[in-house]
Amino acid sequence: MRQLVILGAGTAGTMMANHLHKSIDLHEWQITIVDQYPKHYYQPGFLFIPFGLYSEKDVVKSKREFIPHGVEYLESAIDRIDPRTNSVMLASGTTLNYDILIIATGAKTAPEQTEGLTGSDWRKRIFDFYTFEGATALHAALENWNGGRLVVHITELPIKCPVAPLEFSFLADWWLAERGLRDKTELVYVTPLSSAFTKPICADVMGHTLTDKRINTVTDFNIARVDNDQHQIISWDGREVPYDLLVTIPTNMGDAMIERSGIGDELNFVPTDKHTLQSKVKDNIFVIGDATDVPASKAGSVAHFESEVLTKNILHYMHGEPLTEDFDGHANCYIESGFNKAFLIDFNYELEPMPGTFPLPGIGPFSLLKESYVNHLGKLAFRWIYWNGLLKARPIPGISHTMSRTGKRIPPTVPTDVASEA
Ligand SMILES: Cc1cc2nc3c(=O)[nH]c(=O)nc-3n(C[C@H](O)[C@H](O)[C@H](O)COP(=O)(O)OP(=O)(O)OC[C@H]3O[C@@H](n4cnc5c(N)ncnc54)[C@H](O)[C@@H]3O)c2cc1C
Repeated sequence: MRQLVILGAGTAGTMMANHLHKSIDLHEWQITIVDQYPKHYYQPGFLFIPFGLYSEKDVVKSKREFIPHGVEYLESAIDRIDPRTNSVMLASGTTLNYDILIIATGAKTAPEQTEGLTGSDWRKRIFDFYTFEGATALHAALENWNGGRLVVHITELPIKCPVAPLEFSFLADWWLAERGLRDKTELVYVTPLSSAFTKPICADVMGHTLTDKRINTVTDFNIARVDNDQHQIISWDGREVPYDLLVTIPTNMGDAMIERSGIGDELNFVPTDKHTLQSKVKDNIFVIGDATDVPASKAGSVAHFESEVLTKNILHYMHGEPLTEDFDGHANCYIESGFNKAFLIDFNYELEPMPGTFPLPGIGPFSLLKESYVNHLGKLAFRWIYWNGLLKARPIPGISHTMSRTGKRIPPTVPTDVASEA
């Protein structure tokens, strides 16, 4: 039997196990998937936990539930990959040999990368919502909030779901208003970017939304350290932003296993061809999801579009055929904006988010780059689609892995190549 090994049974790894199980000859190929933890978290749901909208039961299921019969599931930490010998060493002591390797080990927060971030204020006045534990602890802190200065802060890019800090700020504005605490709370949005988002037209819309919601924005803020005694964050150029409650997005990094294997960049992301998803490490290693260094958003929707391209390319590779260069960086993200409304953005490497309707031109039902109640329903429906469609590699009707220009109002003056950290 030839061996195909998938590292990581999160969003992307699980999708790949389901796609490949349906499309490769299982008499010839053995598929093995490895992950260290038994629980699969629906990470987009972490956004709603601090506000009491979701709880554990909404975001956690067993990983095994989503791994198809016939795929071997191993629960173990991965120690390292040895590309020279085509093998993976597990912390359990087992060595797995592979003919094809798919790395889907994702990204995670690394608060220890910022001086003082995990000091005496950590999980007392400083919280993150990018982990289940952080989101749950932040919920408890918000329940006791009586007003003051609430600072939402991004350490550096890239981060998973780069719109999530904006969503948190908008939801905080709504939640505080509901509780009669909005006038007692100064909301501040602190970003290392020069504007509210990475893409100019969307950044403009988000910037106006922040202003309309009376959320003060501090831009170009590159954090040097946290002063836990004075309760302030300090940038390299000496600016100080005081907080009563700091909701921070720490540095996001690939797993330390990537560093131990000597195959990552300085943030432990794996150099990957942005159109084929073949690694630049070795021909028989492919990468998907947050673990790549491609300049697409680190998002579940992106992993879904990538999984369709990667499945084709694994089959091409198995048959000795040229790989398709089909992945265009397609991302599709709802941006919850409070008061039962949300935005929707749809973009790729070349075209930034544009106004219009999605997926049907002139009909929608979703509005692009515009707040609507229907978009909010789409955001809520994403959880059901995630558990029942995306993870099981079921196609989503009407939505292709390549971005469609149909329905988008694209001015002729718009530059098409705006690829950057999404
Ligand atoms: C707060 C928040 C909000 C988000 N909102 C959205 C959204 O609205 N829409 C959207 O599309 N996306 C959203 N995302 C992003 C989305 O959740 C991720 O992009 C997606 O889960 C990435 O999938 P992945 O498989 O690459 O990584 P993961 O799902 O994180 O999986 C990686 C897996 O690898 C395993 N692993 C890593 N290292 C090792 C090791 N050494 N040994 C063994 N196992 C290992 C981990 O245990 C994990 O199971 C959000 C994320 C967050 C945090």
